[in-house]
Amino acid sequence: MTIAISASFDAGNIEVISLDDPNNIRLNIRKDHQSDFLQWFYFKVSGAANTPCRFVIENASATTYPAGWANYHVATSTDLEHWYRTPSSYDNNNLSWSITPEHDTIYFAYFAPYSLDRLNSFIALCANQPMVRMQTLGTTLDGRDLDYLQLGSLSDTANQADRPQIWCIARQHPGESMASWWVEGWLERLLDETDATSLALRDLADIHIVPNMNPDGSFRGHLRTNACGANLNREWAEPSMQRSPEVFLVQEHMRKTGVDLCLDIHGDEALPYNFIAGTEGVESWTEARDQQLIGFKRTVASLNPDFQVEHGYPRNKPNSANLSFCSNSVAQTYGCPAYTLEMPFKDTANRPMPELGWSPERCVALGRTFVDAVYLAMCDRLL
Ligand SMILES: [Zn+2]
Repeated sequence: MTIAISASFDAGNIEVISLDDPNNIRLNIRKDHQSDFLQWFYFKVSGAANTPCRFVIENASATTYPAGWANYHVATSTDLEHWYRTPSSYDNNNLSWSITPEHDTIYFAYFAPYSLDRLNSFIALCANQPMVRMQTLGTTLDGRDLDYLQLGSLSDTANQADRPQIWCIARQHPGESMASWWVEGWLERLLDETDATSLALRDLADIHIVPNMNPDGSFRGHLRTNACGANLNREWAEPSMQRSPEVFLVQEHMRKTGVDLCLDIHGDEALPYNFIAGTEGVESWTEARDQQLIGFKRTVASLNPDFQVEHGYPRNKPNSANLSFCSNSVAQTYGCPAYTLEMPFKDTANRPMPELGWSPERCVALGRTFVDAVYLAMCDRLL
C-alpha cells in the first residue's frame, strides 16, 4: 500500500514535506492566504492501516500561538463522526505523534472540524421551523452566503417593539471550529418545542444568530482571517465591503434591530479553560455593568462545571478598549453587555477528559447551558 496525505477538501490545511518514511512523515502548516497567521491544520491519511506512523509538524514553533502546543493532543477520527485525541508531544520546535492506524483512512485536525455541508444542513433544518426566519445578509469575497437566522415568539401577546434583541455570532476566526459546535447546541435547544426555558426565552426576546461569520476562511482552512487576509475581529471600527463584508453586513443589520446583548463565540489556542472576556475598557462601563458580567459568568459556571471564572484574559484598563473588536464595538455603540466566549483547543485543566479533550459534545453541552444563562440574565433585567 502507498500512503497518501491530502488536504484538498473543506477546511483542509497541510503541506507535505516528506512522505518517504512512514516513521518520519514531515509536514508543515500552511499560512492563511495573504496573511502570516497559521495554526489550523486538517488532513487525511490514506493507505496506512497497520503501518506504524509518526507525524512531525516541522513549523509548530513558527505558528501564531506556539504556547498552544503545550499539553495539546491532536484530534483524530476514522469516520468523521467521532473525534478522539491521539497523545502528542511538543519539543519547542516540532509537534509530533505516533500511531498505527487500524483503518486505511484516518483524519487529523487541530480541533474537530465543522464542515460547511453540515452547516448548510443544520441551517436548513432550523429554517424549516415556523418560529425561524432565515435570510442571507449578503455575499462574501469568495461568493458565499452570509447566513443569518432570527428567532422570535409566535405569541400574539408579545410586544415586539419592546423586546430585547439578543445577538450571537460565531466563527469570526475560522480555525475556531469549537464555536460551530457550540452554536449547534445553543440553536438546537432554542428550537426545542418541549423545552420550557427555550420557549420562555423566545417569549422574552428576539434572537439573531450568524452561525458562521467567516465561511470563506473556514473552507480555505484558515486560522484567523477571511479570503483577503482580514482578521474579522479587528475590523469592527471601520469595516468595508472590499475588505470585510462579513462585519460590514452584520453591523448594518445590527443598526436595524438594535442590540441588548451580544455573544461572540471563539476558541483560545493557549488557555486550557472556558471563560468569558468582558468589555471593561469601553467608556460606558459602569459598576453595574461589572456586576452584571460577574453575575453572568458565575451563572454559567454554576450551570456547567466545564465553565469557570478564575482564569481568562486580564481585565481591560478603563477607557482602553480597542474598538476594532466586536465586543467592544457593540458595547460602545449600544451601551449593552457584549461577551466573548473563549473555549479551549486542548483539554480543560479544571475537568480533564483525556480521551476526548475539549470536544464537540462538550461544546454542544455548553451551548445548551447558555440558553439557561441568558434566560436568567433576561429575567433579572426585566424584573
Ligand atoms: Zn477567536
